[in-house]
Amino acid sequence: MQFIDLAAQQKRIRPDLERRILNVLDHGHYVLGPEIAELEKRLGDYVGVNHTLACASGTDALLMALMAYEIGPGDAVFTTPFSFFATAEVISLLGATPVFVDIDESSFNIDPRRLEAVIQDIVNNDRTHPVYRSMDPRETLEAKAVIAVDLFGIPADYPAINAIAQKYGLKVIEDAAQSFGAEQNGHMASSLANVACTSFYPAKPLGCYGDGGMCFTNDEKLAKTLRSLHIHGMGDHQYDNIRVGINGRMDTIQAAVLLSKFAIFPEETNLRNDAANRYEDLLGGIANLKLPKVPVGARSAWAQYSLLAESETHRDLLRNALRQKNIPTAIYYPKPLHLQDVFKPLGYRKGDFPDSESCAKRIFSLPMHPYIAPQDQGKIADVLLDAG
Ligand SMILES: *Cc1c(COP(=O)(O)O)cnc(C)c1O
Repeated sequence: MQFIDLAAQQKRIRPDLERRILNVLDHGHYVLGPEIAELEKRLGDYVGVNHTLACASGTDALLMALMAYEIGPGDAVFTTPFSFFATAEVISLLGATPVFVDIDESSFNIDPRRLEAVIQDIVNNDRTHPVYRSMDPRETLEAKAVIAVDLFGIPADYPAINAIAQKYGLKVIEDAAQSFGAEQNGHMASSLANVACTSFYPAKPLGCYGDGGMCFTNDEKLAKTLRSLHIHGMGDHQYDNIRVGINGRMDTIQAAVLLSKFAIFPEETNLRNDAANRYEDLLGGIANLKLPKVPVGARSAWAQYSLLAESETHRDLLRNALRQKNIPTAIYYPKPLHLQDVFKPLGYRKGDFPDSESCAKRIFSLPMHPYIAPQDQGKIADVLLDAG
C-alpha cells in the first residue's frame, strides 16, 4: 500500500503528459514559455483571482509575498508553530521576527481568538510576552502581517483572521501549499486573503515533477511587484533592475506537467473527499481516536488525513500495528516550530503553545490520495479497531 500513489495518476494521463513535455522540447522556450502564461490563466480562473504568478516553489511564493510587503528587521509576522518549516523560515530569512500563535486543535490551524491577544501584546509592547524574552529591552517590534496556514488542506478561519488583521492594519498571507482545491464559504482556497501562496511539490494536492509554486492576489500593484521580484527585481526590461529580487521562475516543463495534471484535478479533489468520507464512516466509532473535522462551510483538499491518538504511547502502538501490516503512516509534524533548534534565539520554551505541542505528540497521517482502494481503507480501519 502506498502513502501517496503518484503512479496511478500518471498512468491515467501519460499520453497527454508526453505530448505536452515533447511540445516544450520542440518549441524550446524552457524559461517563461507559453505554458507558463496558460497555467497562470487557468489556475487564476479556477481559484477566482485576477492575478497569478507561477514561481519556482511554494517557499519562493511565500518569500516574495513578504518581500512585496517590504517585511524586514523589526517587523513581527504572526504565524502558527504547527506547520512545515518554510512557513516561518521565510520570515527569518528576511530578518523579521516570527511571532507564534497557538492552534485550534479541532482544525490544526491558527486560533483566531489567540491571534488577537498576541497581536495586542506586540502592539502594546507588553514585555511579558514570550517573544521579548531574548530581545534587547530597547528593541521593539512592529506588527505587520499574518501568515495563516491551511494545514492538511483545511482552510484557516479567514473570516475571523481577516477581520482581526484589518482592525490592526495587518496584511494576511494565505499559506495554501496544502489546500489547493479546498473551499471556504463558496470561495476557493488561494483566494481567501490579501495574497495566497501555493506549492506544486510532487506530494501536494496538485503537484508537478519537481518544484513549483504560485502566488495569487486581486491586488494589481502587489501582482506587479511580485512579477518583478521573481526576475531579479526587473523593471521595464530584463537588464533594468529596480529592486532586489530573486530568480524565482517556474520551469516551462513543470507548467506543462501541471496543465496535464490540472485537467483531472477537480475530479481528483472529489475522489479525495470520497476517500475522506469513507475514513470517517469506518473510523468514526473508535472512541479514543480524534478524526479531522472540516469546519461548517468548508471543504478540504485532503493533502493529508491526520488523526489524533490519545497519547504519544497510543500513537506509537497504532503506527506499529499498521506497520506490521505494511501500511505506511507519517507524522506531520513531530516538532513544533518554536521548539526547533534554529529558533532557540527567539526565546520560546516548551509549554508556550500547549495545543501545538500536544498535537505534535499525538498526530499521525494515514494513506490518502485519489486512487486509494476502499478495500485498503477497510483494512486500515480493521487494524486500528483491533489495536484499540
Ligand atoms: C510544502 C509547504 C511549503 C513549501 O513549499 P515548497 O514548494 O516545498 O517550497 C510551505 N508551507 C507549507 C504549509 C507546506 O506544506
